[in-house]
Amino acid sequence: MIAQRYKDMLSGKSVIRQISEWSTARGTEIGYENVFDYSLGNPSVPCPEHFTKTCIDLLQTKEPVTLHGYSPTLTIPAVRKAVAESLNRRFGMDYGMEHIFMATGAAGALAHAMRCVAVPGQDIITFAPFFPEYKPYVEGAGLNLKVVPPRTKDFQIDFDAFDAMLDENTAAVLINTPNNPSGAAYSAETLTGLADRLRAASAKYGHRIFLISDEPYREIMFGGQPIQYVAKFYDDTLTCYSFSKSLSLPGERIGYVAANPRCEDAEYIVPMCGQISRGTGHNCPASLIQLAVAECLDETSDLGVYETNMELIYAELKKLGFTVVKPSGTFYIFPKALEEDANAFCKKAMKYDLALVPGDSFGCPGYFRMAYCIDTEKVRRSFAALEKFVAEEYGK
Ligand code: PLP
Repeated sequence: MIAQRYKDMLSGKSVIRQISEWSTARGTEIGYENVFDYSLGNPSVPCPEHFTKTCIDLLQTKEPVTLHGYSPTLTIPAVRKAVAESLNRRFGMDYGMEHIFMATGAAGALAHAMRCVAVPGQDIITFAPFFPEYKPYVEGAGLNLKVVPPRTKDFQIDFDAFDAMLDENTAAVLINTPNNPSGAAYSAETLTGLADRLRAASAKYGHRIFLISDEPYREIMFGGQPIQYVAKFYDDTLTCYSFSKSLSLPGERIGYVAANPRCEDAEYIVPMCGQISRGTGHNCPASLIQLAVAECLDETSDLGVYETNMELIYAELKKLGFTVVKPSGTFYIFPKALEEDANAFCKKAMKYDLALVPGDSFGCPGYFRMAYCIDTEKVRRSFAALEKFVAEEYGK
């Protein structure tokens, strides 16, 4: 008998993927260059040349049986050491290699982090708008996802709503800054407020409530703003990182979990990840890719195009009368739709070959997401379609 649970999931497939598939299909009809595909968060800039050269060098110089062999259960020691040193240098932390576990992207890192600090039946709290895959990530671990409603004026945290949701069944709080889909980055004030509440709630309920910080967009900040390093605000933090966006390597599936050395049972987290990976199938990320990213830890792809695109789109949306919060980072923007039903809004946009994603699956109905990891030239060309859409459908 097949598993009904996964069969049932077929009717709830990712809306982002569905819209992306529509864009591809429409592209075969009219040419993909004529589809303004703002659906998918796939980087549009290449990885740094240094990464490619490092891979070539490893392939040419390393003994192949070792290079392509299984990495140790806790992943490659030299890589973990390099990651710890990079984080210490950049953020003034004091990680050792014993606090770092390499994982298959942020998805793999989150799969380990959640299982480290929560048992089936417990709750993970997150904040809308949130990355829709959090639902399968959390529910796949037998946990419940509880969502704090959005504070749409700036996409920081609605603390009254958060306070009302915290209880003895809360195992962890999951945040994502800068955020997919809003592009908002949590301020130091927000993170301080969150940490204060987590400390108070941990004392009240008699167990540490962990903070899981999902940071795949950490390197994509605009206007020269520094990112707040979340683990500096709260000891019981597990940082989940990915090189998918910063080095444009989503297909290579590489990232890590970093356990704050001051978190409860810090010495057990990484060894536990090793055990968790036996059951999740996310074990031993590719050795070649672990070694290659270790050489590029303080680098990024040329990410400037995302800020250029953001400025253009933000100005255009404002000109057209949209309500929109200016993103602080990422390659997403999350405006309010021009009618209450963002699904209807995005459906109408398709008539103009605009692929926009409704906010419902992000826990924020009435809004829509644009992923502007596309060529700037296409962004500029899309404005005629956007203007026509808004004028014909909404008389603006
Ligand atoms: N978390 C967020 C907020 C994301 O946007 C994504 C991917 O888009 C992920 C996690 C998963 O990232 P990865 O591809 O590194 O697994």
